[in-house]
Amino acid sequence: MAEAGSFADRVKQQADIVRVIGEYVRLKKSGQNFAGLCPFHSEKTPSFSVSATKQFYYCFGCGAGGDVFKFVMEMDKVTFPDSVRAVAEKCGIAIPRAKERTPEERKENQQRTSLVEIHKEAAAFFVQQLNGTPEGRAAKAYLLDRGLDSEAMSRFGIGFASSGGESLMRAFQQKYPEKVLEVSGLFSRDQNGRLFDRFRRRVMFPIANDSGQIVAFGGRALGDDLPKYLNSPETPIYTKSNILYHLDRAKESLRQSDFAVLVEGYMDAIAVARAGIPNVVASCGTSLTEPQVKLLNRFTRRIIVNYDPDTAGQAAAERSLTILLEQGAEVRVLALPGGKDPDSFIRSEGAAAYAKLLKEAPPYVDYLISRARKMDMSTGEGKLRAVNFLMPYVQRIPDRILRSEWATRIAQQLRIEEPVLRESMRKAASERRSEVKARPELVGRIGKPAERRLVQMLIEADEFRSKLAQEILAEELHRGLESERILAVLIEACALNTKPDASALGMALEDRDRRLLFEIAFESGAPSSWEEAQSCLDVLRRRRAEEELSAVQRQIESFAAGATAGGELRRLLERKQELRRRLAPPVQ
Ligand SMILES: [Zn+2]
Repeated sequence: MAEAGSFADRVKQQADIVRVIGEYVRLKKSGQNFAGLCPFHSEKTPSFSVSATKQFYYCFGCGAGGDVFKFVMEMDKVTFPDSVRAVAEKCGIAIPRAKERTPEERKENQQRTSLVEIHKEAAAFFVQQLNGTPEGRAAKAYLLDRGLDSEAMSRFGIGFASSGGESLMRAFQQKYPEKVLEVSGLFSRDQNGRLFDRFRRRVMFPIANDSGQIVAFGGRALGDDLPKYLNSPETPIYTKSNILYHLDRAKESLRQSDFAVLVEGYMDAIAVARAGIPNVVASCGTSLTEPQVKLLNRFTRRIIVNYDPDTAGQAAAERSLTILLEQGAEVRVLALPGGKDPDSFIRSEGAAAYAKLLKEAPPYVDYLISRARKMDMSTGEGKLRAVNFLMPYVQRIPDRILRSEWATRIAQQLRIEEPVLRESMRKAASERRSEVKARPELVGRIGKPAERRLVQMLIEADEFRSKLAQEILAEELHRGLESERILAVLIEACALNTKPDASALGMALEDRDRRLLFEIAFESGAPSSWEEAQSCLDVLRRRRAEEELSAVQRQIESFAAGATAGGELRRLLERKQELRRRLAPPVQ
């Protein structure tokens, strides 16, 4: 939020967070930090901490945390600029007049304005290409064949990017400075450094932000070109995780109907909207993110997830469920019969059939139970796997009575003795309570000791932080860890050779990662050494080798019994030996 060199940054440097927060909360010194009763939730023992050295606060009870500006924003319910002004006043820092924007800010604003203009013009250009060129008309015929009529094409602003690779470039190069064209995401550079059209021989779908400004495009390949879907890269006006396709058009009906249909791609969203259900949005290529859910929750909390029934779609739906449930959404899941996505289903079965299924879409727990039942339920182990698959979701049901009802249903449907199931639920719940006092969803996110130490060292160890960051990055040791994103932002900060600012980095992270980062940053870690860093890295390397070993073992077992040791099997067996050697305890 506070960019380097800006007024906000200067205020942050000069302000004393302990003094500012001390005006609102009675703080007592506690070790290196200050502690008090949290002003954001009611409590009797202090779990609210302020770090004077790192200049941020964090509540171990409710997870509130951030820098001095965030605190004032939350307490006084003011915007960021007002918070900066308030803090400056409290600390006696002269405030520049409101008009005096920094030149950078002015330039950024201008750039954003030009980018929005370029996208608007590009959308018109693509539409004109669809209707006015032979190649475009062929694309149009293809779309008509897929069931989109001209009315729908104009309603959703669908256009066409030709195969030549320079028609958009030619139309724009006289009008806009090359610098702006370059950041627009509509062009790429060839080996000679020349800009050319990023989208070629593709049907173009404009992607708008929630106020209806076109900020990006999705291009669908004609025929078998790869990738099938190509989207704009992130630009100053487009952040993928903040945009829901069709939200700008869906807003009104989302409020009126008080529910949303969530689909994967723009073709699905268009098909559903055309079927007379305007309250549909698409997460568009990415799996659903927390900012997207927050955006949607501004309009409704009742959501019907209708992703593709293929494996990838199912996995995406299940990932989305977790995020939706955490954000307190009321979720139902529609899995269309015959393995169809919404677009193909509506084309073959019609709008009325779709609307009917939508109405009957089961609550997410029913959907999950039916998924679990498809697992192998003939063995105790299989049943356990099914229960473990369901448990994380069931635990997220906030209401205790509802949770208990679901336990009964799961027991019946999976033919598990109910007391056994309840016992494992009770155990899971009590383990969570003893593990953390904080909100239960933090469980499992707490990070293994080696990861926590590495995060601490990247923040604290001035002597070897960048060397450590390089080493993690070189082997990509952070991939797949629960602290992956935290380590990634830290490594990035270390690459810039700056001392990482936990509160600033926290702002770039999603809620759970932010909390984890703050918690780790608050632990007063013992002084670290390069040797300790190495031993933490060894833990990660070992964990990775163990994972590979069990994957290899599974592959080996998947060879039918009695199969002769062909090349592939021999390779796996050798790999297994190699990993075993590596994992063997060192000789004393
Ligand atoms: Zn709190």
